[in-house]
Amino acid sequence: MEKNTERTEGKYKGHYKMFDGSTVPNDICPIATDLIVMKTGEWRSEQPMVLRSKCVKCGTCWAFCPVQCIVEKPTWFEADLATCKGCGICAAECPHQAIIMVEEKE
Ligand code: SF4
Ligand code: SF4
Repeated sequence: MEKNTERTEGKYKGHYKMFDGSTVPNDICPIATDLIVMKTGEWRSEQPMVLRSKCVKCGTCWAFCPVQCIVEKPTWFEADLATCKGCGICAAECPHQAIIMVEEKE
């Protein structure tokens, strides 16, 4: 089978296409064939709040965050709320109890 080396245009320019569209059956699940951008920040019911005086910048929250939305600030780390999904893993894993989960406001 020939290797698909065709690159995509527009937003994902430069990425290789997952499949050559002409050879993919019409009834295949789109999750497996389309690139879908999920707005994970819209899933939250709670959001992480960093208690800056307790944060020692150890990076544990960064390492555990499943969507990699922890960003570095001058003396603390915090979540980028555009993509934070509010799972609370960072708060559970922080060894210094520097993150609390607070209810999301409308
Ligand atoms: S895990 Fe806690 S102490 Fe470590 S960087 Fe994150 S918020 Fe700061
Ligand atoms: S709540 Fe979940 S998604 Fe948000 S920063 Fe913490 S680990 Fe990442």
